[in-house]
Order: sequence, then C-alpha cells, then structure tokens
Amino acid sequence: MSGIFGVVSKDNCSEILFYGTDYHSHLGTEYGGMAVLGTTFTRQIHALGQSQFKSKFFNDYEQMKGNKGIGVISAFSEQPIYLNSKFGSFCLATNGFIENAEELAAILLKKGISFSEVSSKTVNHTELIAKLVNRGNDLVDGIEKMFDVIEGSCSLLLLNRSGIYAARDRFGHTPLIIGKKDNAWAVTSETSAFHNTGFEVIRDLGPGEIILINEDGIVQRRPGILKTNQICAFLWIYTGFPASSYEGINVEVVREKCGRLLAKHDTDIHVDIVSGVPDSGFAHGLGYAMESGKPFRRPLVKYTPGYGRSYTPPSQRTRDLVAKMKLVAIKEVIEGNSIVVCEDSIVRGTQLKNFTIKKLWDCNAKEIHIRPACPPLMFPCKFNLSTRSIHELAARKAIRQLEGHDLKDVSEYTDPTSDKYRRMVEWIARDLNVTTLRYQTVDDMVEAIGLPREKLCLYCWLGEYPRICRRKTKIDIKETRKPAAKKADKDTLSQTKLW
Ligand code: SF4
Repeated sequence: MSGIFGVVSKDNCSEILFYGTDYHSHLGTEYGGMAVLGTTFTRQIHALGQSQFKSKFFNDYEQMKGNKGIGVISAFSEQPIYLNSKFGSFCLATNGFIENAEELAAILLKKGISFSEVSSKTVNHTELIAKLVNRGNDLVDGIEKMFDVIEGSCSLLLLNRSGIYAARDRFGHTPLIIGKKDNAWAVTSETSAFHNTGFEVIRDLGPGEIILINEDGIVQRRPGILKTNQICAFLWIYTGFPASSYEGINVEVVREKCGRLLAKHDTDIHVDIVSGVPDSGFAHGLGYAMESGKPFRRPLVKYTPGYGRSYTPPSQRTRDLVAKMKLVAIKEVIEGNSIVVCEDSIVRGTQLKNFTIKKLWDCNAKEIHIRPACPPLMFPCKFNLSTRSIHELAARKAIRQLEGHDLKDVSEYTDPTSDKYRRMVEWIARDLNVTTLRYQTVDDMVEAIGLPREKLCLYCWLGEYPRICRRKTKIDIKETRKPAAKKADKDTLSQTKLW
C-alpha cells in the first residue's frame, strides 16, 4: 500500500508537503519520497524500514524550495520516479498494484525501453507506470493508455512545469481527494492529512478522472467513468486512518457501526469486558461496547505507534517480531474476565493466535471471544497489496483441512448460512484456541459502510471482479488502446474549469 499527497501553493510548499505526506505513514513502512519543483526539481527518497518519515525528511524539506510538490509513503517501491521524457521532465508517485507488471515490463524491454530502478529482480512499478505514460501522445493520453493496459489499480500524481496531474485508478479502488485553502490546493489519499494542514475537502476524484492542479486552480482533463466505481471496503475496516473520510464517509464512524452490528448478533454470550486489538480494532470494540452496554477496557496496549502495521514489512520474520513486541498485555485487566476482542480482520491468524490470544490466556483470561469486523478473507488483494498469498489465508487453511485439498469454488464457504461456513469457522476457532469466533457478514459490513454494495470492492471476501478488470487476452500494447473517442489532448479537451 502507498499513500500519496500533492500540493500547489502560491508560496513555498515544502513544509505542507512534508506534513501532508507524513500523515500517510500508517500506509507503508518501506520507502518515503518527496519531490518539489521550483527553478529545478529537488527530490529525496529514503528507506523507512528502520526509522520514521519525519526523522528522515525533517532536514531535507527545509532545503527543498518550490511552490509545487508531491510526496509518497510506500510499502513497495522507491518513488517518486524522475523521468526526463519526450514531454519534458516529470516526477511521478503512484498508489496501487500492477498485477501484470512483469508481463508489461517484458513487452517494453522488447521494444527497447530500459528500466533503471530494478530491485530484487522486480521492476519498480512506478517506473513502469512512468514508461507506460510516456507512450501517450501527451501526458493525459499517456495516463489513459496506461490505464488501458494495466491489471490491478494505479492512482498517481505527476509533477511537471504545468502543475500536478492527479489521476484516480479506473475502478476507484484507491481514493484521491482534493482540498483547498487560501493560496493552496492539495490532493491526498487520506483526508486526515488535511485537518491540521488547514485544507478543506472539496471532493473525491471519480474513478479514472484526471485533473491538473496549478497556481490558477484545478482543471478537469478527463471526467472518469463513474459506473466503474468500486472503492476498497478494506479502507474502512482496516487500512484507512480513523480521522479520514472517503466518499464522504468517516472511517471511525464505520468501525463503530461494525462493532455495534457484531454486538447485535451476540445474544448468547455473557462477557465482562469488551476490547479491541490496537489500533484499528479499538473503534470496532468501542462500537461493540456501546451496543452491548459492557465496559470497554484495554487488556492489550501498543507500546509505540512507531512499529507501524505488523503485516507491512516484507519479511515474515520482521512482521512476526513486530507483532510480538508491539502488544503488551495488562494482567490486572485480563485476569478472571470473559473478554470480547474485536479485530479488524483475520488474515493468516498466526499473529492473532501466537501474540494476542496467547498473551490473554497467559494472563488468565476466563473466556476469549474473537469478533473480526469483516467476513473470512478468501482471496488476496489484486489491487493494492493489502493481503498476501491465497494459501496463507486462515479460511483457506481451514477449507484445505476440511476438504483434504484446495477448492477453486468456495461459494459455499462464503455463505454464512451454510453448514460448510459453520464448520470452517469452528475449525478456525479451534486453531486459534478461543472460546468463540463470530465473523461480520458481508451484508452487515456493507450496511456499516453505507455505500450501495455495487459501489464497493468486496473481492477479498467474495472473489468478484469488477467487470472492467477482466482482461483475458494477452496484452499487445499497440493494440489494446481502443480507438480514441477524443483526439489527443492539446490542452483543449475537457478543459472545464471547475473552480
Ligand atoms: S481486494 Fe480487498 S483490499 Fe483489495 S481493493 Fe478490493 S476490498 Fe480492498
């Protein structure tokens, strides 16, 4: 996952850029980057594996001078990429995941296009996007051509002399939101980046929409395709920041609703206290406590937010170590109590079992009732790297054990009224070693978010693709571009001045 932030100001923008980008630190732990354009480009990229964005960039940003800039926090690739292209120089930051990246890179290599940012034998996705954009007749055409050939999703910020081009992925999986204040415009993945930097939310970009932000305001360059909108439901359940809103819907409030809906189904258990696995489980737990009338307490606290998300570091050993170290149990709260523990989700289940549930039993909990705020995860994310291999998922492990082999069609296991679903959940509960386990249903999760079901990506749980994503044929870059309905972008098309 990545978070991106861009700003155009009448004055020097680097301080706003620094803080605005830093407010995306919860989304990635591997790389941070900022690029500012004044008389020239200034760009800095640092690895964040061992230290936080603020400490790495504090000295840098004071040296960066210019009125427009982009920043990124990334769990995957070093960015922003700088490219001296046929369109002039630009810097690019992206958020998303390109499933067919290797295939596209191989095609470009055959056409004589080189890549410089290769690490671990994998092409840098942002560099790949830059090279794909460069195939266009102009930048907007290039972004659309890129959208045509990628599988997965990509939202981006492209900084050049004209301003910042902001484009949201065609399916709207990843959010991009425009903000405004006196003398400055900004665009962000997280609206929480606006609150303390003084921006007011103007609106979310539509799926596939492309805008240009510069000193004169914002110009829409392509309107996007609203009917493809399927924003990631996991943003509200886990990955988003509590103070953020997407499509105008706040994360914290959705999590509280999730907790309330979980509590409504729990008429058959008697518990002493309600809790949540920090941090994202807290709001789910608070909602559960409000609905059930039971006290919310903290049997587990996180020693420091500096550890970040336990799944984000790429090595499993580091993820496990972080998970073990960051949560500290409070025996005085746990001992002798029946506890509801709200969790955002269960991915592999191993960290929950080994580092959360074990700590509670070790402190003499009487009963442990686990309540994930979303249904069993069945499919790894294809669009933004939120989950990992299919074989690792706890639900898939359970199915493998129950059936004796992997299943292609898991529809019976995604139906919460089926006997197979019940047996799968019982198997996971036994494996986790908990008193009871009850997952949120898809219907309740959708109700808590409050968007129509068809406007949400639910692929993680149901494996349903947005129709437009299906690309069954081999990609030939030259032929995949549909005949352009619009002529090449000459700064004349879709130039509706919006503000
Ligand atoms: S597959 Fe899951 S994590 Fe990925 S975009 Fe869809 S809902 Fe979000």
